Amino acid sequence: MPKIRPERLTMPVQDPKERRRNFREVALGFTPELAREEAERCIQCKNPFCEDGCPVHVPIREFIDLLQRDDPQGALAAILRTNALPAVCGRVCPQEDQCEKLCVLAKRYQPVAIGRLERYVADLARDAGRAVAPRRPRGPRVAVVGGGPAGLTAAGTLAGFGYRVTLFEALHTVGGVLMYGIPEFRLPKDIVRAEVEGIQALGVEIRTDAVVGQSPTVDELLEEGYEAVFLGTGAGLPRFLHIPGENLDGVYSANEFLTRVNLMGAWRFPEWDTPVRVGRRVAVIGAGNTAMDAVRTALRVGAEEAMIVYRRSPAEMTARHEEYEHAVEEGVQFRFLTNPQRILDDGEGRVRGLEVLTMELGEPDRSGRCRPVPVAGSEHVLAVDTVILALGTSPNPVVSRSLEGLEVAEWGGIRTDEHGATSRLRVYAGGDAVTGAATVILAMGAGKRAAQAIHRDLAQRGEAVGG
Ligand SMILES: Cc1cc2nc3c(=O)[nH]c(=O)nc-3n(C[C@H](O)[C@H](O)[C@H](O)COP(=O)(O)OP(=O)(O)OC[C@H]3O[C@@H](n4cnc5c(N)ncnc54)[C@H](O)[C@@H]3O)c2cc1C
Ligand code: SF4
Repeated sequence: MPKIRPERLTMPVQDPKERRRNFREVALGFTPELAREEAERCIQCKNPFCEDGCPVHVPIREFIDLLQRDDPQGALAAILRTNALPAVCGRVCPQEDQCEKLCVLAKRYQPVAIGRLERYVADLARDAGRAVAPRRPRGPRVAVVGGGPAGLTAAGTLAGFGYRVTLFEALHTVGGVLMYGIPEFRLPKDIVRAEVEGIQALGVEIRTDAVVGQSPTVDELLEEGYEAVFLGTGAGLPRFLHIPGENLDGVYSANEFLTRVNLMGAWRFPEWDTPVRVGRRVAVIGAGNTAMDAVRTALRVGAEEAMIVYRRSPAEMTARHEEYEHAVEEGVQFRFLTNPQRILDDGEGRVRGLEVLTMELGEPDRSGRCRPVPVAGSEHVLAVDTVILALGTSPNPVVSRSLEGLEVAEWGGIRTDEHGATSRLRVYAGGDAVTGAATVILAMGAGKRAAQAIHRDLAQRGEAVGG
């Protein structure tokens, strides 16, 4: 067996000093030489455990084998059998906790850089022009509500089975968080659009600006003749701290801030008439992926200083480690064990500071993470003029409130069985709308499982494609 290089290859990135002021993609992707060399590290295990770690079961061993044989188009075809969004997943999936965590090399060395190879394959094939002959399914009609990763995957899978799928999206564009949440410098929007086009080519009809629950309702869709409805409406409702000062000018939810910048062109202000008023010093409260995206976006739209304020320690951060490292390289400051108490008013309704308390770590709480405990008398003020709250999100109740008989958990998540079936016949759900804020690949896995369940259930009623 050839000797394995213990370290995986790193991906070239834009210089931090330059990139902190532009929206171009940070990570530049593997060159053909790097991809070839990294692919050679894969030992083609008889039992590819890596695949067990992928919620959509990408044939990882096979696609890397095809790369080793210098056949990237074949590698893409293999990936597309189970994953319609490979360029997206190659960029934003937390591979370190999924496929790469289970790679056998990880026992002694660094795992194969599966995500980087997936991205390489998807980008190369896209640049070469991925020619997909448009299809026209002729089967029964199914409605998909929400155009995020869950809805897109359900729609693509159902269209692949032969159903006529209509996808209803509330916004003017599809992609969900991939479009309105994750910034351009991490996930270019042209890439999302190209992968959405691939799903449309399977025959999925997309209707934007359609808020299901208002017009039409789910019941109306079923009455109109859709045999089943999949709800992939995500968790886009921001949470707040409920501390004094949250209504001041200069306070945003990360959701609003990122949507204005990503979807409404605020980063091009004044060329585009969508201002986000970002002052000189910005505090982002929270330490997940959303917080990292917000703080790095704040730098790019002109903040002189941008900091993360987090009541726990670095060990409890939920952001991907790579995103944290990139933020540090770009000059983001981190104030750990710091808990916001109130946002201070400058006397004219604008933010002039954030009063915080220093914390120390106590006993583990129910989540297993050490509970932060306030240090008495440690109040102090951080002189900031903008505060962005990135505290997590909950499912939006528009659909669930309008659908009688749909069981919903106390915190707002739609209740389903393990296949995505809800308490209402013919209505299925998956993704963040069911689990609360999670990950792209988990949402995709849920969309796929629900599509399979819809196909199975319709077949049992003799209503499936060819049934
Ligand atoms: C800023 C940010 C960064 C993130 N970074 C990462 C990351 O790096 N890696 C990762 O894996 N995950 C990341 N996530 C999480 C990930 O994006 C989500 O878990 C994933 O997008 C969930 O997919 P979904 O399809 O369930 O919902 P969403 O992506 O939220 O899509 C739901 C869609 O449904 C639409 N909708 C809602 N209600 C209705 C209605 N009534 N009618 C019609 N349409 C409706 C919404 O407009 C939206 O387009 C991030 C999240 C955020 C907010
Ligand atoms: S577990 Fe690692 S080495 Fe084995 S097939 Fe998967 S990627 Fe290759």
